[in-house]
Amino acid sequence: MYLSAIKNFITKNKYPEFQLKAVFFDMDGVLLDSMDFHSIAWVKTMNGLNIPFTMEEAYMNEGRVGHDTINNAYLRTFGRVATLDEQENIYQIKTNHLEDLGEIHAMPYSNDLLNKVKKQGLEIYLVTGSGQLTLLESLEDYFPNTFVKEKMVTAFDVKNGKPSPEPYLKALAKSGLNPWEVVVIENAPLGVESSTSAGLFTIGINSGPLDPDLLYTSGADIVFPGGMKELYKNWDDFYQVNLAPINA
Ligand code: CA
Repeated sequence: MYLSAIKNFITKNKYPEFQLKAVFFDMDGVLLDSMDFHSIAWVKTMNGLNIPFTMEEAYMNEGRVGHDTINNAYLRTFGRVATLDEQENIYQIKTNHLEDLGEIHAMPYSNDLLNKVKKQGLEIYLVTGSGQLTLLESLEDYFPNTFVKEKMVTAFDVKNGKPSPEPYLKALAKSGLNPWEVVVIENAPLGVESSTSAGLFTIGINSGPLDPDLLYTSGADIVFPGGMKELYKNWDDFYQVNLAPINA
């Protein structure tokens, strides 16, 4: 199953081969068990401004940078995008709601997977649409000595957030690797759209209430409906397939 997924990926993208050298991790819903809190914070923020907004919508928007989510809701409700001041204020309200909800924890099995990936000698990158400083700073507490600034792309580094390919293309440029040497771990449809349009092999893990089929329709090469736990349990099998370069 993994081999055929990789061969399909090579053929689809017209790459010469596939040789795994790095893993690009999304943050929310992959490394951090944060999506319920984000969704609740968005719903509270929007509803407080008389903008209709549901938990499901929050999940569908996952991966976007904050101002895109705000502008989409504004356009729909008020027929215009938010001003820069409004964007800043609303994102601050969302941040306050998020912090009021309490501490966000590491996703179960994420540390185990990162340790495994490190031992296997693969490089680790972070690619997130998040601009939540508290969360970005918490990475060092949850995953010590794993993420360094030179190997991170956050909301502060991009002009166009996910689903644009820009965040993943930036990470690829930082890594100096070829697109056939990277695997992306994403949990949201827009995140998968971003990584696959950057031409990267993408494993979708489901960590919310959305139908996991949405990850396939967004372009994921492999989907684990059982989330990080299922990915962790299957990682060694996937890695084994990648011990030597794969041709189409
Ligand atoms: Ca995510």
